[in-house]
Amino acid sequence: MDFTLTDSQQMYLDTVNRFVKNEIIPHIMAREKNHDFPWDIIQKAWELGILNLSIPESVKGYEVDVISTALIIRELSYGDTGISTSAMCNDLANTVIAQHGTDTQKELFLKPFVDGPILASFCLTEPGAGSDNSAMTTYIKKAADGKYLLNGAKCFITNASYASQFTVFCKVGKPSSNFIACVIVPAPRVLPWDPVSQINESKDISLPGGGKIIIGKPEDKLGQRLSNTATVTFEEVVIESDQIIGDRRMGFKYIIDVLDYARPMVAAIGVGLAKRALDITLAYTKQRTQFGQRICDLPVARETLVQMWKKVELAELSLLKAAFKVQEKAEDRGIYASLAKNIAAEAALFCANEGLHLHGGYGFMTEYEISKLVRDAHIIDIYEGVREVQNMIIGREIV
Ligand SMILES: Cc1cc2nc3c(=O)[nH]c(=O)nc-3n(C[C@H](O)[C@H](O)[C@H](O)COP(=O)(O)OP(=O)(O)OC[C@H]3O[C@@H](n4cnc5c(N)ncnc54)[C@H](O)[C@@H]3O)c2cc1C
Repeated sequence: MDFTLTDSQQMYLDTVNRFVKNEIIPHIMAREKNHDFPWDIIQKAWELGILNLSIPESVKGYEVDVISTALIIRELSYGDTGISTSAMCNDLANTVIAQHGTDTQKELFLKPFVDGPILASFCLTEPGAGSDNSAMTTYIKKAADGKYLLNGAKCFITNASYASQFTVFCKVGKPSSNFIACVIVPAPRVLPWDPVSQINESKDISLPGGGKIIIGKPEDKLGQRLSNTATVTFEEVVIESDQIIGDRRMGFKYIIDVLDYARPMVAAIGVGLAKRALDITLAYTKQRTQFGQRICDLPVARETLVQMWKKVELAELSLLKAAFKVQEKAEDRGIYASLAKNIAAEAALFCANEGLHLHGGYGFMTEYEISKLVRDAHIIDIYEGVREVQNMIIGREIV
């Protein structure tokens, strides 16, 4: 595997670096405190071409390769993992269309993301179906006119309050069915320049085709407060046949395909956060002196910094291997996607926790960024499959 960046990767990274340094880092602490949705940043990211990376060239998308996508998400996450989670969610929701949709579906459901800065949601998790998503009960049922009706409730859905389109996994026929389908539900566009740019309450969306979507009040979260998370309930939503992606019994396979792509992206979020925690801790321990020495020169503290650095480097290596395997569509890509997610989540948690410790009492103050990174890091070990689920996948493959 060649670690040399291509010219196009270097150009992308330079662009994201500049963006993070100028637009995100200087204001991040104040913005995070307010729990505002960063529409302006999402809009600028779209203008810069660092959003919607997986959309195929056939509909004028960027169709960025998996390794470059991972590097871009890592860099964005160095600035803020709430913002990168929100940005990455478009690809999470749209990959299934890019992978399994017809040309007409790509034109209908992907082109709007090329044309304007809109957001998508990926609706898999339900209150009774988290790690075990086969227990979902949201379902589509054929009505007398041959169309389908979608009913059910999803929870913890990223971008929900601001989404213009929902990718929904659901049972076919009845809530207890063995078959899962993937349906796309477009909704009236929500745009950065809408008069009400911050949504703080629940909202009902009446769909022109029939039925409604109820979006819950945005969740008040421990961390990643710049991403939006809410419940999404579908009531009698009319689904035409062209809104069903691929084979309506193959949804479970499509979920695995999406997660194989998305888990390295969560790993990239973890690596970005771990690196940020390392860098701000290095800066802090280089300027603070105790016992007549810089903290970074005290042997035991130096050892902790070395351990942090090793975690970042190893997480980066496992990220690149997973991205490479997914890019090559290797048979064993799933196990490396799980490995990268676990290793990167562990690095993020370790670097944030130890970084806070090396800041002493100052790290416990909310004005210090390291305290925010500790709050942000936990979700990396949970979303897109908790640590134990990744271990289950790895265990199943190696035995
Ligand atoms: C901020 C945020 C954003 C999210 N965004 C999205 C989104 O956009 N779309 C979406 O569909 N979902 C999203 N999720 C949901 C997320 O993917 C789930 O929370 C996650 O998969 C875990 O499900 P759960 O919360 O129901 O936990 P549970 O499945 O109830 O698990 C709880 C705990 O039980 C243990 N456990 C579970 N399974 C096993 C096992 N097999 N073996 C051993 N122990 C186990 C683990 O310790 C686990 O942490 C998001 C969640 C959050 C918090």
